[in-house]
Amino acid sequence: MRVTFWGVRGSFPVAHPKVTRIGGNTSCVALRAEGAPLLVIDAGTGFRHLGRQLRESEFAKGKGEGALLLSHTHWDHIQGFMYFEPFFKEGNKFTVVARGDHDRKLKQIFQAQTESPYFSYGLDSFKAELTWKPVMEDEQFSIGPWRISTVRLNHPGVALGYRIEHGGRSFIYMTDTAPYTEQWLEHGFHVRKPEKDPEALDRLRAHGKKLDAFTKGADLLLYDTFFTPEQYGQNPHWGHSTPDEGLRVAREGGVKSFYFFHHHPEAWDDDLEARVKSYAKRFGSSDLRIDVAREGETIEM
Ligand SMILES: [Zn+2]
Ligand SMILES: [Zn+2]
Repeated sequence: MRVTFWGVRGSFPVAHPKVTRIGGNTSCVALRAEGAPLLVIDAGTGFRHLGRQLRESEFAKGKGEGALLLSHTHWDHIQGFMYFEPFFKEGNKFTVVARGDHDRKLKQIFQAQTESPYFSYGLDSFKAELTWKPVMEDEQFSIGPWRISTVRLNHPGVALGYRIEHGGRSFIYMTDTAPYTEQWLEHGFHVRKPEKDPEALDRLRAHGKKLDAFTKGADLLLYDTFFTPEQYGQNPHWGHSTPDEGLRVAREGGVKSFYFFHHHPEAWDDDLEARVKSYAKRFGSSDLRIDVAREGETIEM
C-alpha cells in the first residue's frame, strides 16, 4: 500500500513561512493499493488538495470509487469536506464512515454544518453517490480488499482510531487522543478523574490494554503528538498526546515505524524537526523507526 499525507496539522490550518517544510493543512491521509478503492482518513483542509490531485484520475470521469473514514467530526477533521472536487462529479461513489449510532444522525451531522448562515450550499449540491456508514469502536469491516478495525480514543466527543490491513501490511491512524492514564474523556470537556471515580480508572486500564492489542505488530503507526510534555501538563483535558506517550504505545505494540502527526499549530519546522531528531536518537532503533509526517510525502509500505 501507498500512504500519502495531505494534511498533518492539528486543530487549525496554518499558513506561515515557518511551516513550509512540514505543512500547514489539517488532517487528511490517503491510502492507495493496486485494484483497491481509494481510502482516505479524515477530511481536514488537506482533503481539498487531494481532490485537486484527482483531476487526472478516474474520479474526473465519474468512475471513481472511494471511502472516507473519519476519526471524529471536530472542525480540523472535516473542514475540507465541502470542497472535495470528486464529490461534485456524477458517477463517483463514496462511503463515508464515522462513529455514530444510526445512518440518519451521521448525515445530519454533516448537513448541520452547511446550514445558513454558516455556509452557502448543502450536501444536495454533491453529484456523487454518498453512502453513510456509521460504525462504533471494536468493529471490523471491509471496504473492497481493505480490512479495517476500530478502537475508541480518549478525546472530548470521542474519536475513533483505525487499523487498516492490506497485502500483508498494516497501517494505524490514531488521533486525537489523550493518554489512558490520568482521565477518561467523554463529551465536551466532561472529565472523569480516577481518584474521584474508580470506574474511570478501570476503564482507563482496560483501554490501555486494548490499545496494546490493537497496535500489535503494525508496520506504521501515525499518532497524535500534538503536545510537548509541558504543554500536556497545562491542558490534559484537551484530549491530545505527547511523543512520549505515542512511543510508549509503539513499543508496547512492537510497531516498526512511528510517525509524529497532528502537529501543534505553533510547532514550527525547526522546532518540530529538532524534537523528532531528539526522540529518534533516544528511542529509535533498527526495530523502531521514528519520523515526522510531512504534507505531500508518500510512503511505500
Ligand atoms: Zn484534531
Ligand atoms: Zn478533536
